[in-house]
Amino acid sequence: MNNAYFDFAEPKNETVLGYAPGSPERKSLQATLKEMKSHLRDIPMYIDGQEVRSENKKEIRPPHDTSHLLGHFYASDEQHVHDAIDAALAARDEWASMAWEHRAAIFMKAAELLATKYRFRMNAATMLGQSKNAYQAEIDSACELIDFLRFNVYFLSQIYKQQPLSPIGMNNRMEYRPLEGFVLAVTPFNFTAIGGNLPTSAAMCGNVVVWKPANTQIYSASVFMEILIEAGLPAGVINLIYPSGPVVGEICYAHPAFAGVHFTGSTGVFQSMWKSIGENIARYKSYPRIVGETGGKDFVFVHPSANVDAVVAGLARGAFEYQGQKCSAASRAYLPANLAAEIKKKLVAEIATMKMGPVDDFTNFINAVIDEKAFNSITKYIDNVKNSNGAATILCGGGYDKSKGWFVEPTVIDTTDPTYVTMCEEIFGPVLTIYTYEADMWIQALDVLDNTSPYALTGAIFAQDRYAIEYMTKALVNSAGNFYINDKPTGAVVGQQPFGGARASGTNDKAGSILNLYRWLSARTIKETHVPPVDYRYSFHQAD
Ligand code: NAD
Repeated sequence: MNNAYFDFAEPKNETVLGYAPGSPERKSLQATLKEMKSHLRDIPMYIDGQEVRSENKKEIRPPHDTSHLLGHFYASDEQHVHDAIDAALAARDEWASMAWEHRAAIFMKAAELLATKYRFRMNAATMLGQSKNAYQAEIDSACELIDFLRFNVYFLSQIYKQQPLSPIGMNNRMEYRPLEGFVLAVTPFNFTAIGGNLPTSAAMCGNVVVWKPANTQIYSASVFMEILIEAGLPAGVINLIYPSGPVVGEICYAHPAFAGVHFTGSTGVFQSMWKSIGENIARYKSYPRIVGETGGKDFVFVHPSANVDAVVAGLARGAFEYQGQKCSAASRAYLPANLAAEIKKKLVAEIATMKMGPVDDFTNFINAVIDEKAFNSITKYIDNVKNSNGAATILCGGGYDKSKGWFVEPTVIDTTDPTYVTMCEEIFGPVLTIYTYEADMWIQALDVLDNTSPYALTGAIFAQDRYAIEYMTKALVNSAGNFYINDKPTGAVVGQQPFGGARASGTNDKAGSILNLYRWLSARTIKETHVPPVDYRYSFHQAD
């Protein structure tokens, strides 16, 4: 009998394991990597709780070792998309009416399984499938995903507690219903945690979901699906399928029960989604929720008063961790002329110490970029520097090699033109462009920064002068959804730095915060009057 109010305490962030030489976690992870590499993983779709396989089998290979076969997945066609929608809608009523403490228990159990039994398996899958080093996998596929699950349970409990006033004589209450239909989650390759969060945050609110991950993240996505099933997620609540983007879009956006899309990926794809949804608007039962976190051209602005070593460390980590394939990666830096030479010299020296290679060698800081398409796109920007007529030069790096995997050296481009193409466009690779401004023109340089790119995802300022810090914080108020002072612009932690950008970078619904969960709820207000009036007349219209 459900006759009590249940609460979920505020969680603590999951502790990040260090993987130092000789540590037990390093041994366990290395053993799991070896084991996973020695078996071919056969990855089905999951529709209505059933494993589904198509005739269209596709290979999965590590980006850093393209001669090695990790396993296969089964590509979905139109019928699988229809089946996934039907399964979701069939599961909806029972799932939506399940008591919160039972729904929450499934996601809390998933977090616990991920923190313990599945931690190394999940990290190894992310390392092998997406070419992340041990630390990058740990902060993403273990810690961030565990945090998303636990914090979202806590945030949703906070929402459910929010109730309107009830003066004497009546009882007012709010029910936080899930959306009437199904939610489509479309997830990117670069974070296993985002892959897990987009379907589960909506499902936690009582919604049913069709989940389509990027093909290059299916290897780790399938491990998370196994965790959800072991945690007790009922059949049909989240249906994991592998169609092409346009196919899933065309079918879902045309469906009357399409209730929303939870997307993370590139700006162009999101804009095309929004357009298709707009074109279909008259078909839907409800207005769909459109939530998208998209591209960035994230900046580091260095004030003349900055600490040089802090800037160098911030740029080295912010631009090159995970090969610059973070939406938040520093990709354009504005340096003052008084510090530029020293910063560049030290940065180049630091980059020279970064080892590049496969993920199983833990001494490698840099691994491969995700696939051939990314490799070709990134290296084209690098090649174009050579034809830039001196507007830009390669300060360090610039090399690339695809003989074993998709390797691109960490590259710094130096430009004299603040609107040079690599200062404006998202490259999504290990490429940082530097522009040097006159130190006494820093206020004008802020203006250039603010007007250079359509994005406003993350940005960092480095300064010691507190008046300057205050000025820059105000002047750049619309330039970034996540703004850092004397820190790199990457590494947002759930519950600490809610994440999302404005302008062309997305709807800024802040993944990993209470704001995001409101988007997957549709409130119903209920007023109950204890002793209702029995006469329509008021006193004011009675005769004197
Ligand atoms: P992408 O846009 O290529 O793909 C994202 C997802 O959309 C994939 O599942 C893909 O298959 C799907 N897709 C592609 N075309 C589609 C279509 N026409 N209709 C429906 N779905 C379609 O992005 P990606 O390469 O996987 O990820 C990198 C991008 O994601 C970068 O632009 C990066 O900035 C962005 N990103 C943003 C955030 C953020 O929080 N703002 C976080 C991570 C990544």
